[in-house]
Parts: sequence; C-alpha cells; structure tokens
Amino acid sequence: MKKKILLLSIFTVLLLGIGLGATHSNAATTGWKLENGKWYYFQKDAPAKGWLYVGNKWYYMDAKGVMQTGWLKLSGKWYYLQADGAMKTGWLSLNNKWYFLQTDGSMKTGWLSTKNKWYFLQADGAMQTGWLNTSNKWYYLQPDGDMKTGWLLLDSKWYFLKTSGERSIGFETVASKKYYFDSLGVMQENQWLEQGGKKYYLKSDGSAASGITNILEKKYLFNTDGTLVSGWGKINGKWYFSDIEGIVQTGWLTDKGKKYFLNQTGVMITGWYDEQGKRFFFDGSGALTTGVATVEGKGYLFDNDGVLYCGGWFPVDSKKYFANDAGVLQKGWLKSNNIWYFFNNDYSIKTNWLLDGGKWYFLNDQGEMQTGWLVDKNIRYYLTASGAMKTGWLQDGGKWYYFNLSGALLTGWYQDKGIWYYSDSNGVMQTGLITVDGKEYFLADSGAWVPTPSPSTTKGLAGKTIVLDPGHGGYDGGASAAGVFEKTITLQVSLKFAELLKSKGVTVYLTRNTDEFVSLDGRVEFSNSIKPDAFISIHVNSATATSAQGIETYHNSKDGVMPAESKRLAALLQDEIIKSTGAVTRGVKDESFRVIRGNQAPAVLVEIGFISNDKERANLVNSSYQNKICTGLLNGLQKFFD
Ligand SMILES: [Zn+2]
Repeated sequence: MKKKILLLSIFTVLLLGIGLGATHSNAATTGWKLENGKWYYFQKDAPAKGWLYVGNKWYYMDAKGVMQTGWLKLSGKWYYLQADGAMKTGWLSLNNKWYFLQTDGSMKTGWLSTKNKWYFLQADGAMQTGWLNTSNKWYYLQPDGDMKTGWLLLDSKWYFLKTSGERSIGFETVASKKYYFDSLGVMQENQWLEQGGKKYYLKSDGSAASGITNILEKKYLFNTDGTLVSGWGKINGKWYFSDIEGIVQTGWLTDKGKKYFLNQTGVMITGWYDEQGKRFFFDGSGALTTGVATVEGKGYLFDNDGVLYCGGWFPVDSKKYFANDAGVLQKGWLKSNNIWYFFNNDYSIKTNWLLDGGKWYFLNDQGEMQTGWLVDKNIRYYLTASGAMKTGWLQDGGKWYYFNLSGALLTGWYQDKGIWYYSDSNGVMQTGLITVDGKEYFLADSGAWVPTPSPSTTKGLAGKTIVLDPGHGGYDGGASAAGVFEKTITLQVSLKFAELLKSKGVTVYLTRNTDEFVSLDGRVEFSNSIKPDAFISIHVNSATATSAQGIETYHNSKDGVMPAESKRLAALLQDEIIKSTGAVTRGVKDESFRVIRGNQAPAVLVEIGFISNDKERANLVNSSYQNKICTGLLNGLQKFFD
C-alpha cells in the first residue's frame, strides 16, 4: 500500500516537470549569464524564475532569477540542487548521511522500495540504519540501509525478522520449528516456558521441544505444537503416557481402572506380550485384557491379572473352560479322558440339554456327556452310545421301551402309528393279557393292543351264532392217506355238526359248504364279518409215524383277540370230544395258527384225529364216529355258554 502511494506521487510530479519543461523550451533564450558570482538564465532579455528545464536538467531560480544550490524547500518539499545547480535525483551522500531524491527531485521520507530492497528514510530524509521502531513495530536496517529479514544475531542474541521486516515477539514458527521471542524480540533458549496454561521447553537452539525429549536426564513428551503432555500422548502413531510433571512413564500403568504396559522407551504395547513366562494381551486401545476374549477368531481366557491360561481346565465365575497348550479355548465338542464335553460359543462348558445337529444330548453338572438311562425332572430318558437322545422304540435288556418326540419314556397307554401300546410304571412295554383299572386287554407279541369285541353275555347255546370252518378244500386237499383227503372229512363233520347245532336253535355259518378253496385270510374275514359267539375250525392230523394218534385242540394266547375265552373253549371242547369218542387226548395246545389269529371271537382249531393212522382214518370216515365227534363238540359248546 505504501509502495503504491509512493509510485503515484512520483508519477504526478513527473508529469508536472514535463509540463514546466515544455513551457520554457519553446521560449527564445539567451542562455546562462554569470553576474557577481551568481548565475542567471535569460529568456527574452529577462532572467528566468522558478523551475527551469535546460539541457535535460532542472534548475531553480529564485525571485531575483538567481540559480539556487544546496537544499531547497518548496511547498513543504525538499529538493537538492548540486553545485552546478542541476536538481539531484536518486541516492545522495552528504556529511556521512544518505538521502534519496525521487524522480521529481523531492526528498523521500519513510519507507522506500528500490531494486527489491527496502529502506527507511527519517523525517529529515537521512537513511535509517540499526533498529527502527515505527507504527509500534520494530525493524532492523542493516548498515547499508537494507531492511533485514530472517535471523539476526546481535550481541550474542538472536532475533527473527519476518518477511515484512517486522521483528517477531512471542511464538514464531520458522522452518517448521517453533521459537519464542521475549518482549524485546530476544529468542529464548534452554528453559521451560509457561504460556496460556501450557508448558513448553525451549532447547539450546531455541526451538521448542516436540515428541520425546530428554531434559536433565529425564524423558518428557511434547505434542507437535510443543505443548508438554501430561497423560496420554500420541507421537508418530505411538502412544506414550506422561505423569503430571510430563515425565514419560515405562512399565505397568493403571489409568482409569485399566492396565497398560509401556515398554522401555515408553511406547504403549498392543497385542501379545510375554513377560517372565507369562503371556498378556493388550487390545487395540492398549488396555490389558482379562476374562474371556476373542483374538483373530480364537478364544482366550485371562485371569484378573491378565495372565493367559494355558493347557487345561479353568473355572471362572462358575463357568468352566478348556484351553489348549497355546491357550486357545475349546469350542464345540471335545473328548478328554474318553469323556465328551461341549463348549458354547462363549467357550464356556455346556451343561444340561444340548441341541446339536438336530439331536439332543445331555451334559451333567460337570459337562460330561451322558449315555444310557437318565432321569431329569422326574422324566426318564435314554441316551444312545453316541449320546443322542432316543425317541421312538428302544430294546434294552430284552425289554421294549417307547420314548415320545421329546425323548420322555412313556408309561401307561400310548399310541404309535395309530396302534395302542401299554407300558408299565417302569416304562416296559407289555404283551399278552393285562388288566388295567380292572379291565382286561390283550396285547400282541409286538405289544400292539388287539381290540376285543364284547363277549356274549346271555347264557345258553340257543340263540348263539357259530362259525364252523371246515379245513382245506378245492385244490387244497390237506393231508391224505389211502386215497382219503382231509378236506373231505372236515367238510363231512362240519356239515353234520352244523345240522346238530341248528337243531339246538343255533345260527350256523360255514366258511365253505362245498369242496372249494377258501383262503385262510378269507375265512377269518368271513368270521369277523359275522361276529359269531364262537369260531371252530375242523382239521385232521397227519404224521410220518403211522402210530401217531389222538385228538388235540388249539387256541392262540399270544395274538388271539380273545385269548382267555378261546383257551376256555379249547379246554371244554377237548374234554368233551375225548369223553364222547374215547380217543387218546393230546391235550390243549397254544399255537398262533392263521385262522385263530386276529379272529374277533373265541376261536379254536380242533384236530379230530390222524389220517395217517389206519385205525383212526377208518373212524374218521365212519358216520357214527363222526356223530360222536359232533356230540363232543356240542357238549363242549354247551358248557362254554352255560
Ligand atoms: Zn388241516
């Protein structure tokens, strides 16, 4: 700004000068004239007065036309006219002082910029050297008048002059370093400095300490702005901690309830750290890890002092963990000393029920996987050798058990695939005849309950319905000997017996009444469709030993529908036939023949003699012997219904 104003004023004066020159140069001159030691310049026989421009030079003639030399003050401006009267411009040295006359000849005061250098000319025009105080700022003009910038050493004291020439006071940053200059501009060094509640240290070169700095054999930490750190400080991406004095700490540190470790140079440790055979881990913030922590996807367990647990079992807060030799915590299944354990996602050992891979397992209070029988909350379970909870059927020790979908052992009545089963209070599946709440039920060998039709309640044979089943028929001749077929005898006896029964007021159905083939299933289905009061199947026996003889009656106690009644009927019939025929008794026998299985009536099968025995065959084809058989059957039936 100052520079601009200066140039503008020079320019104005220059124009004025050229104007003056033009006025005088056109006049007719007579030239210079010396009179009594004084110079005049005549124009049209009169001496010129005021400024005169001749021979490219300016002169000044006073009111009498006398040419002036030396200093001249005009309109408040100073000019210098040399010994020959010519007006001076540029630098002028006079009595060991320098002056500067501008292009228009006027003497310069104040700041002057020329040839890229700054000068200062005092009010009397004399060029300034040394210290200068102007506008409340200090400047330094070198002995040649050139304004100083940058470092200045004077009397062993350092000063700093800014690009503007202004002397630095207070903090100044030079080449990225921070310096401090007192009120006199003197750079401070080798001392602590407190400014604005912050502490700095000025080193021997005057620059403020930053980063880690040793001062009197103590290590301090400074921020990059030079302020002393108390507490945490980060230098070059590393963390340090200084106490209240600013002294950098090393070793273990507790801050706000967290523990840290600072190495020998004071750098805060992160990650793994080994000390005297102990392993520690510091997280990203440098805090010591305790308890369970996951590091790079692996679990670890640290005690309250941050020491890593390695190799074995470790209880923490009623939870149990297992760490391998490297300290990595187990997750999922683990087999140790032949016992299986399971560890949760938080690495703690699993107890109680566990659902894994769609199967349930049970781990006891010690986390040990259980197998075999288990009672939990009064419910019985069974865990297989692999530990998986059993559902559905289990055969154990020759007994059958049934577990529902929750694995609970069932007792009493339950259903599986639409079939009823019954297990006792120990969960053992029952078979055969059972009594529950005073009622009888019959369970097949498979345990399946076979529903019983209600037995007839009215007494006496009359009015009853009987199904007679002549064995074999059609292409199935049954046993045969000497040209006699079983199918013929069974049909003859059955037809005779049917007539006898009808005469006693019995409704009789025959599974066949001619020589035709009827399947075994068909005979049972036929009988079940009738729902008779009894079912009697007639057969003839055969054996390789022709001596084999006698009569036997079968019932089915295992999977007969009405085992008790069938057994009673068999016994009565066998008894009465023997009485009536005098034949050898082979006894009552229990067998699961097809026609007396699933037959929903008291059902029996009578082998009325041996076709392979000549004597018995002769009887069997004999009509009066056949009558004896029918009488026996009738007597037996009558007793059955009495
Ligand atoms: Zn037969």
